[in-house]
This record gives sequence, C-alpha cells and structure tokens, in this order.
Amino acid sequence: MAEAGSTKALSNSFPTQAQVVIIGGGVIGCSVAYHLTKLGWKDVVLLERKQLTAGTTWHAAGLVEAGGFYTETILEMAKYSRALYQNLEEETGQSTGFKKVGYLEIASTPSRLEGLRRIADFDRVFDVDIEEVSPSEIKKMWPLMETDDILAGFYTAGDGRVNPIDTTMALAKGARMGGARIIEETKVTGIKQNKGRVTGVVTDKGEVQAEYVVNCCGMWSREVGKMAGVHVPLQAAEHYYLITEPIEGIHPELPVFSDLDRYAYYREETGGILLGFFEPVAAPWGLDGIPKDFTFGEIQPDWDRMMPYIEEAMKRVPVMETAGVHKFFCGPESFTPDLMPLMGEAPELQNFFVAAGFNSLGILLGGGAGQVLAHWMVEGLPDVDVTEIDIQRMSPYQSNRMYLRDRITETLGLTMAEDWPNYQYKMARNARKLALHDRLAAAGAYFAEFSGWEYPDWFAPEGVEPKVEYSWGRQNWWEYSAAEHKAAREGVVLMDVSLMSKLLVQGRDAERVLNRICSNNVAVPVGRIVYTQWLNSNGRIEADVTVTRLAEDSFMVVLSPSIQTHCEAWLKRHTPPDAHLFVTDVTSGYAILNVQGPKSRQLLSGLTHVDMSNEAFPYLTMQEIDIGYALVKAFRVSYVSELGWELYIPTEFALHVYDILVEAGEAVGLKHAGLQALDTLRMEKPYRDYGNDIDNMDTPLEAGLGFFVKFDKPGGFIGREALLRQKEEGLQQRFVQFLLQDPEPLLHGGEPIFRNGESVGYIRAGGYGHTLGGAIGLGFVENKEGVTPDYIKSGSYELEIASVRYPATASLRPMYDPKNQRVRSSM
Ligand SMILES: Cc1cc2nc3c(=O)[nH]c(=O)nc-3n(C[C@H](O)[C@H](O)[C@H](O)COP(=O)(O)OP(=O)(O)OC[C@H]3O[C@@H](n4cnc5c(N)ncnc54)[C@H](O)[C@@H]3O)c2cc1C
Repeated sequence: MAEAGSTKALSNSFPTQAQVVIIGGGVIGCSVAYHLTKLGWKDVVLLERKQLTAGTTWHAAGLVEAGGFYTETILEMAKYSRALYQNLEEETGQSTGFKKVGYLEIASTPSRLEGLRRIADFDRVFDVDIEEVSPSEIKKMWPLMETDDILAGFYTAGDGRVNPIDTTMALAKGARMGGARIIEETKVTGIKQNKGRVTGVVTDKGEVQAEYVVNCCGMWSREVGKMAGVHVPLQAAEHYYLITEPIEGIHPELPVFSDLDRYAYYREETGGILLGFFEPVAAPWGLDGIPKDFTFGEIQPDWDRMMPYIEEAMKRVPVMETAGVHKFFCGPESFTPDLMPLMGEAPELQNFFVAAGFNSLGILLGGGAGQVLAHWMVEGLPDVDVTEIDIQRMSPYQSNRMYLRDRITETLGLTMAEDWPNYQYKMARNARKLALHDRLAAAGAYFAEFSGWEYPDWFAPEGVEPKVEYSWGRQNWWEYSAAEHKAAREGVVLMDVSLMSKLLVQGRDAERVLNRICSNNVAVPVGRIVYTQWLNSNGRIEADVTVTRLAEDSFMVVLSPSIQTHCEAWLKRHTPPDAHLFVTDVTSGYAILNVQGPKSRQLLSGLTHVDMSNEAFPYLTMQEIDIGYALVKAFRVSYVSELGWELYIPTEFALHVYDILVEAGEAVGLKHAGLQALDTLRMEKPYRDYGNDIDNMDTPLEAGLGFFVKFDKPGGFIGREALLRQKEEGLQQRFVQFLLQDPEPLLHGGEPIFRNGESVGYIRAGGYGHTLGGAIGLGFVENKEGVTPDYIKSGSYELEIASVRYPATASLRPMYDPKNQRVRSSM
C-alpha cells in the first residue's frame, strides 16, 4: 500500500474508521476530498484502486472553458473551477498547468450563430467574459484556420487549458494539507450498510467504518453503486483525440477552439495540433464491465469508424492534412442518459453520495463539482439548483444495460449538436408507452419523451406526417399546437397525461406525516385536492405536488415523473420510524385523461350519472364518476386555467373510456391536444413547473406561492421557521411573468432580463401565449437590496434574444384569468 506523496508515520497504518470515505482517486474524488477539508471535515480518507488519475483523468485534453454553457449550475461550476485552477499553485505549491489561452467557438450556419448568440447572452448574465468576434478577428487569432464560411465566433479570453494530472495532484495535495488521507493500491470490494444507511466499506486491505461514503469512481461508479444497491446510470464510451507532429505556425499561445458543426475541438500540443472529437454516433465501451486491471489504459482506436470525422475536421485547418499523426488516442469516458452529471445522495442509501458521469467535462467541472458536493454533504442541502444534476432525477429503469448502451451512442455527440428547442432523443425510445399509445398515434400524435414516457406533444392533422423540423423560429407544428391551445380556451380538449407519477400514501399516520412535509394543509375532508410544495429546512422547494384525500387514511400524491425518485426518498427520510405509513407507486395503475375547456362539463355530464355542476362538484374536489362500464376518479383541477377534470381511469379501462369520450366528443368539437399546448396554456396563467421555472433554490414566497403556505396549521411544517424569517427580512428575488410586446420573437428559456437597462436575471422557461398574443417568459427578478411589488411595477423591462433586446410587460399577477373565474366556472 502506498500513501501518495506523504511521509507521515501515522499514515502507514491502514485506517479502520473515518468520517468520510471517498472511493476513487481521479479529479473528482480528489476535488471532493479537497473541498470537504476546506469546509472543516478533516477525517477524510480517499481510497484509490491503483494510482491517482489512473482511470480516465490522466488522458483528458484538459480544456477549461466557462464560456458556452446554457444552464446556471453547470456554468457556475465551470467558472469556479477556472478560478480555482489558477489559484491552486499559490496555495499548494503544485501547479495545475493552467494556460490562459482563450477559448473560441465558431459558427458557420445562421442557426448555429443564433444558438451561440443566445448562449453568449446567457453567459454574460453570470459575468463570463464572452464576446462575439468577426471572421477577420478569428483569422488573426488562428491564421491557419479556414475562415471563408465562418459567420462569427464567440471568444472567452479568460478560458484555457490545464494539465489534468497536475490539476488532480494539486487538489490531492491541498486535500492532504487539509488533513485528508489518500491511500492508493486499495480496492473497495463492498459497501456496508445498516437500516438504509451506509456504515463503511470493505477493501482488499480491510474494512473502514464510515459515516459517509462517496462514490467517485468514474466509469466504475455503476458497478461500485451496485455493491450498495444504488443505481448509477452511466456507461463508458470510446472518446478520441489525435495529435499531429509539430506544424509550423502552431504555438502554445493559440486559443483552444471548437468547430461544433464538425464535432471537433482543436488546441496546440507540443507544437502540433490536438484534435478532439464528439462524433454524433458514439461507440459504447466495456458493456460487459470494465476490464480487470484497466489502469492508465488505452483502447485500440477504430480508424475506420473515425476516419470520416477526421477528414472533415482537418478541412477546418487544412495544414493538418499533410502533417504526420503523432498519436491517435482513444480512452474511455462515462456518459449519462441526459448528458448531465450524477451527483448527490443516492435515493436508495442514506449518506452514500455519488459524483460521477461527467460526460467529458470532468476536468472542467471537477473543481465546481467538488465544491457543490462538499457543501451538500456538510450542510445536508445543496447551495445551487440541483434539479438537473441530482442523481435523484433518474428512474431505476435508466440503469438498464441496453437502454444505456443505446442512449449514450447519441448523448456523446449532443455535446456539440445544436441545442434546439424541444429537441427529442432519437435513441432508446418507444419502450415506456401509454395504454392509449396506438389510439393516439392513429389520431396523429407526434410523440416526445419525458422520463422515458412516450407522450403526445402535438397532433398532426389528417394527411400530415407527425415529424419535427427543428429551428429557433416557429417550428413546423406551430399552427397545430396553436389550434389545440385555442380549443382548450374556447371548446374542449382531451390530453393524455398518464405519465404523471402517482403515489398512494396510506396508513393511520398518513395525515400527520404528510402534513409535516407539506407546507399547505392536507388535513382536509375526504375528496379535497390540495396543491402544495414540500420544503426543506431552508424553506426552499423540494417538490411541487397535489395531495388528494381519498379516505381518512389514504392520500394520492401526484407529481412530475422527474421528481418521483426524489419524492419517494424524501418521504422515506421524513417518516418517523414508528409511523404507520405505506407508500405505493400506483403510476401504472391509472391512465389520466385530462378533459379541459369551457365545454368539458357539457361533455362529461352527458356521459355520467353524477351531477357535474359547480354546486355538486366544486373546484379542487374529487369524486368517483361512472363512464361506460368504468368507475373513474374525476379530479376537478386544471393546469391550463379552464373548467375541466382530470380523469384517473384504472388502466385496463382506459381504451374503453377513451373511445366513449371521443365518440361523444364529436358533438361538442372535442380536440386532441398534446403537452406543447399544455405548456403554452399553463404559461399564460402561469402555473409553475418544478425543475423548469422553479427549483430547490427558490422559496414559495419568492415563487409567488405564499398563498399555498399555511403558517398557522397545527404542528407546523418543515421549512416554516426559515420562511417566517424570510417574510420578516424581505425578498431578494421574485417570480415574474413576462409578455413580449412584439408578437414575433420567441422565448425558449435562458434569455437575460433587463430592468431599466440593468441585468436582473434570466428567463427560466419560455413559451408562447397564443391567447395573450406574444411570447411568454417566466423568470425571477433579482436585487440584493430587495424586490418588492413596487420594485417590479416601477421598472421598464427588456428581454434579450440572440443579442437583441425586446420590450416586455412584467406582472406578478397572472396575465390570464387572474381571478380564477374560468377554473371556477359554473357554466
Ligand atoms: C479522450 C478524452 C478527453 C477528455 N478531455 C477532457 C477535457 O478536455 N476537459 C474535461 O473537462 N474533461 C475531459 N475528459 C473527461 C475527463 O477526463 C473525465 O470526465 C474525468 O477525468 C472523470 O474523472 P473521475 O474522477 O470521475 O473518474 P476517473 O479519473 O476515472 O477516476 C475514478 C477512479 O476511481 C478508481 N476506482 C474505480 N473503482 C474503484 C474501487 N472499487 N476502489 C477504489 N478505487 C476505484 C479508478 O481507479 C479511478 O482512478 C476527457 C476524457 C477523455 C476520455
């Protein structure tokens, strides 16, 4: 056993216990160790199977760029790493090899230019030094680059590159200086646990008891997760770069650049060019497991597969075509189903954390990821929006081997693909289908995918193939979806929303436990529907759900499938051990048909013997109704702000009820509608969408949901005290609905918000208000000095789209149906 770089006598004995054991000595494990010690957790042991960096880290290309990201958390992690890697040498004496040579992305098509402009706008909200540069400026920066077809570039001067091994060693040194022990040549062979909580690890050198264990095993993380019964859905894939012999005119000060349309990036390496690839169809590797003893390993490159990409990429720097190849390198890197990392506490096992699946950005994100995870562990909650990186966003099926194999052939290449609005994966599709799938397909559905579910996004009229042509403007289905939107406002629509997750919470203590978790009051009469948030101890939103009381001791919790795993874990962890409570996932047990619109009462009244009038069936109540031979739970609730019901139909009756609805619907003009229409309808209200426009960093007061918080209910609720404090201190951000005054431009999310010319935030979710007549954006206006209703009202607003600013109207009150008259309609 070797103790990396340490001479302390104490460290010669193998530890039998520690507060934290980190498994894996790549850049991520070392960063987590470094940041834990920074936060004061000194009793940290890092165990590495072989030597530090021996997995994937040693052969990374070392690009470190903060410019070019489109989501806040990833961008902040990248920015943090970039700063950290410049300062680590001063702190540790070990250089990271950071070279500030700048980073350039080039656009050679109009749509790419628009996409990159949108990203650059977003990056500037976070003070990233990214600027648009002309083809002639690009030529000056990179004289050997072919620039004739280039429209513009985006240059971030503060970006650059590091040496991945040196960076990892600097983090390791910093961790050791903070008190951590790093032990190499020690393989973890098992995870110990007791009553759902991790208690330590088994290694080939003995056991170590630990309060926390962190799985930072890169592409091995899936198999290490398995030892603990934890799903870590990632898969290794071949990942390539080529290094040429030295070329005249290539020198170390050249910026790194990416030609996204050629799936390639370029940088100087020992006087030659390092040309790296993100090919659109990738090759999974190690499907039968990572070969034993794969250490500082390489994969035999597949020249035939990669040759077309190499030839295409060389056209950008034609001098490469005659340069000799010094090295064609292929190494494995792990990729995830949605190209986002897997971080946080495993839903299956308490105190077992994961930081893996970095999709070829592990060096860049390493610093930030270590900082985020360390904070998460020490404070018990993350301090950034984790909805897109939390391992709890995944469903167990995503660890399926065939699913991962197929999906990651696509996700690797998406790193460089255009970031189209409403992009749909092509791979690993058509497995999780609605009971009505074939009927909906026959009705013209274009199917999109969410959490594996194939759902109708919009319906093509007869004779039109349901197919999307991607663009930044109005896509080909625009008019179809607009007509569905109109039908919901004026007539009646049918939407299949069976993909919503449904948890049955039963038991003598169900009300007590749920009422502690929910910030609204769920101690309501049987048949009442309660819209509520689940908060953490900081008063920030962990989930956004409805809770319906089915019986004295039985509740149905309905939530987005993207938070199901998280909610189940949250429920489990906040249920006292002695509570009489059982949670059952009944998602597959019910199809949900959403019948919405002013004519919904007329339609349903003709099909059931139950009185559907306002008096007999008020808003936010549930009753069992008969349709055909079926008994259906009808929920009078709306996510589109119209009169309507969601019908929860036992799945085996779904076809029967659907056929009856469609046949009877003809008389009232019933139209099928997809989830695009659901989204544009809900945005006009605006109903919130957790993970999209609100997240774990927002409180209900900031999100404009204070009405649903019942501060005075008996027993209180998690987060109450923090919310009361915030109420007292005032808000620094508020959720605002924006409507563009010009009906033409579109919002897709990520657009900066300007108040009186000053940047005050960005649009979290964008869509179109077909009834309101313009693009709608939902976002938070931020101001450290406080954001009052007057502050919002007194401002003049613009939203920036592809570097052009457009005037917008801002409102704290819903722009559509502000008094809830339509949802409560008695007509
Ligand atoms: C060709 C290529 C180019 C790349 N270029 C870049 C780039 O330019 N920029 C960038 O940001 N990223 C890049 N990457 C990605 C980057 O290298 C990875 O994301 C990063 O190194 C992942 O680090 P890690 O710590 O998660 O994994 P690893 O470095 O693989 O570390 C995991 C460690 O866990 C150890 N381990 C596994 N199982 C056990 C066990 N049972 N017990 C103990 N230890 C165990 C392994 O030995 C290994 O050392 C590139 C990757 C490749 C392949």
